[in-house]
Amino acid sequence: MHNMKQFDHQHNIYSDGSLVADFFAKKHAPLQFAGEVETKTVQTQLFLRHLNYTVTHSAFYREWYRKEGIDIAGITDLDDIRKLPLTRKQDLSDTGQLLCVDPREIVDVCLTSATSGATPTIIPLTSSDLSRLAYNEEIALAMSGVDETDTLLVCAALDRCFMAGIAYFLGGVKLKAQMVRSGAGSASQHWEMIKFTHATAIVGVPSLIHKIGQYALDNQEDPAHSTIKKLIAIGEPTKDENLTLLPIARELERMWNANIYSTYASSEIATTFCECEARCGGHLRPELNVVEILDHDGAPVPDGEKGEVVVTPLGVTGMPLIRFKTGDISYLIPEKCSCGRTTKRLAPIVGRKKQMLKYKGTTVFPNAILSVLEGDARFYNGYIEVMKNDDQTDRIILYAALTRDDDQGDWMRDRLRANVRVVPEIRIITRETADKKVFQFNKKRKRMTFFDLR
Ligand SMILES: [Zn+2]
Repeated sequence: MHNMKQFDHQHNIYSDGSLVADFFAKKHAPLQFAGEVETKTVQTQLFLRHLNYTVTHSAFYREWYRKEGIDIAGITDLDDIRKLPLTRKQDLSDTGQLLCVDPREIVDVCLTSATSGATPTIIPLTSSDLSRLAYNEEIALAMSGVDETDTLLVCAALDRCFMAGIAYFLGGVKLKAQMVRSGAGSASQHWEMIKFTHATAIVGVPSLIHKIGQYALDNQEDPAHSTIKKLIAIGEPTKDENLTLLPIARELERMWNANIYSTYASSEIATTFCECEARCGGHLRPELNVVEILDHDGAPVPDGEKGEVVVTPLGVTGMPLIRFKTGDISYLIPEKCSCGRTTKRLAPIVGRKKQMLKYKGTTVFPNAILSVLEGDARFYNGYIEVMKNDDQTDRIILYAALTRDDDQGDWMRDRLRANVRVVPEIRIITRETADKKVFQFNKKRKRMTFFDLR
């Protein structure tokens, strides 16, 4: 059923169109500094090759497009991408139909992390996909100023089929940095490892990086005087939609006396949008993706306007996707960056599309409500519950645990009104109750602060 791939040395491409291999092999410079025309020409070529490869090899897309009456011969330009339907997360359940290679060509199986009890998705990778992943992370790390003189502490699981840990490891190796696979260890293990290896940068979830620093402080040591100079934050946002550091990120920079770099990535899109040293949004990667920002009806929104991030990850050979709906809301920053890169930047993710709350004509995301409070020492921990009122509007309840027992939390109303123009119902709970609820699914990784009962 599948033709063997052949490398066309004359044209420097694979015969099946498995494309970005020449970028992985550095036969092209990444498009970060290229002009608009060159970027568009190369990206169009890569996109058309990706589309052709996917429709030729994926039973899922071939059948879907046939049913929809889509002939890809009519897709000749990047803008024609809008003629293709959007791929949703739930479309990825049948890996067999999506797989584009002989199963023997799969060398690694990744699983998406299943938050809130959802079934994880299988992402099978070929060796070419692993090379793509390494290339992706090599460029991303280099963008945030990591080089071969750095020692990188990777505090993300390299096992349990997670993609992030292996991606950072492969990318760092490619960059010739020294890699410390600290993995899913405890705060004390990570701290000892930093001292032992003189690590200069940490890759990890912000709340974990905070725990490591706190462990040091609790043991009369100061993370600000450690060898760590860079914090590469994965998995959780570190900035609000105006690119202002969230309280936890500010606290981390102070605690470690280090710069924090925000990243955005997901297993399905197998790409990292990482901040450069100017630290104002994640640069797009035109040789690895086509990124679109779409409104509720699937139409593109102008740069600067918020919408759903839709990504076509180019060059994937195992389970390639076309126009994948990430469910994340953000916007594009078109202005040229001070670093000299010509690519647009992706602003911080403001929230998940399905978590969007409607409050008296205002839309707001639960994490925006919580981040207003998290910067205040009086706030200990909390979560948000939302349900439908009888009139179908959203009823938002904030469960807040406060640092002092005698605090009734009246100050929170003014804070919320001023910052997000939303004042939910507020219920004060004990610190123990809050911790129990927020960490119930996952003791080490992400906190669970939003419960949708709509
Ligand atoms: Zn930049």
